[in-house]
Amino acid sequence: MQVYADNAATTKISKVALDAMMPCFETIYGNPSSLHSAGQEAKEALEAARAKVAQCLGCEPREIYFTSGGSEADNQAIISAARYGARKGKKHIISTAFEHHAVLHTLEKLEKEGFEVTLLDVHQGHNITAQQVKDAIREDTCLVTTMYANNEIGSVLPISQIGAVCKEAGIPFHTDAVQAVGHIEIDVQAQNIDMLSLSGHKFHGPKGVGALYVRRGFPLVNIIDGGAQERGKRAGTENLPAICGMAAALEDACAHLEENTVKVTAMRDRLIEGLKQIPHSALNGDEVNRLPGNVNFCFEGIEGESLLLLLDMKGVCASSGSACTSGSLDPSHVLLAIGRVHDVAHGSLRLSLCEYNTEEEVDHILQVVPEVVSYLRGMSPVWRDLQNGKREYIL
Ligand SMILES: *Cc1c(COP(=O)(O)O)cnc(C)c1O
Repeated sequence: MQVYADNAATTKISKVALDAMMPCFETIYGNPSSLHSAGQEAKEALEAARAKVAQCLGCEPREIYFTSGGSEADNQAIISAARYGARKGKKHIISTAFEHHAVLHTLEKLEKEGFEVTLLDVHQGHNITAQQVKDAIREDTCLVTTMYANNEIGSVLPISQIGAVCKEAGIPFHTDAVQAVGHIEIDVQAQNIDMLSLSGHKFHGPKGVGALYVRRGFPLVNIIDGGAQERGKRAGTENLPAICGMAAALEDACAHLEENTVKVTAMRDRLIEGLKQIPHSALNGDEVNRLPGNVNFCFEGIEGESLLLLLDMKGVCASSGSACTSGSLDPSHVLLAIGRVHDVAHGSLRLSLCEYNTEEEVDHILQVVPEVVSYLRGMSPVWRDLQNGKREYIL
């Protein structure tokens, strides 16, 4: 059995998305900026896609800017708010310690330019509260940027409350909603969100395409200069096939949101219950406010990489927040941010499900994960030390 349980990394493209893309390769291949009929046909497809994305977020089509993905949208949103803030002498930004690197690395760059960044602590309940945001606000705060849902541990942040706090304080609020869009109902108006990043490949659309929602009137800054595409805010000929595929995938995801949530949540909860039975294990992430498809555990005494390799041999594609998989020696900054020590953070496993997964696949995972964990523990010197008391259990 082959089980794909790494949907937080990327998803399989849906038939709906693929069907929406094909005409853009075969017949609607004009440049949307061209004045002739082929160009105008492409322009119509582009604007229809924009309207679909806007519809799913509860905003106006002209508030949607297409980008190359979630990372670019995050960069553009944060840089724009920083430039706007700096013009008014405000150079303080609030974010969280468990953001995606697209946000954290952009913030680090701004720090080198003299911005001050407050990263909110996520130890308590593996999440943040709106009160933490409120307490961190200063006279010179120019942006609050918090993710909607965490990609590693699945915690869903109190976005509506944070939006309300920011609105009251008059501070722009951006959210990296890459893990949430298409999986959680979003209404940027009701939730007081000023900017929001999304990415096509996290909801069964194509890779390399995303969008940034920006509330009308907010001064967006270009990070790619050139032609006048996207109302002058993002140069480059539009990736029409990908944009149409993403819009169709999003429309489909929003239309089936409730039934998908019910199905995926049930599988997630069965996995969590089953894996909790493994001794010296701990669930990572918010137990209540959690993405429907996210399961993330730490298992004491083992290495995440070996776990992933053995699971792959048994047909399970999963992910880990451990060292080698990410190409660095440090374990995931997210697991460290919630207070997992290095040793334990190295032994983590993320299983991320979608509506294409089945109960039979969950059965298979529930059979092989405990087997592989105990096999690895059988060979682990760390586990031996824990067992004979030379080392103390943490979990
Ligand atoms: C995947 C992801 C991104 C990056 O999106 P890309 O489209 O791959 O650039 C950013 N933030 C979060 C939370 C993600 O999960």
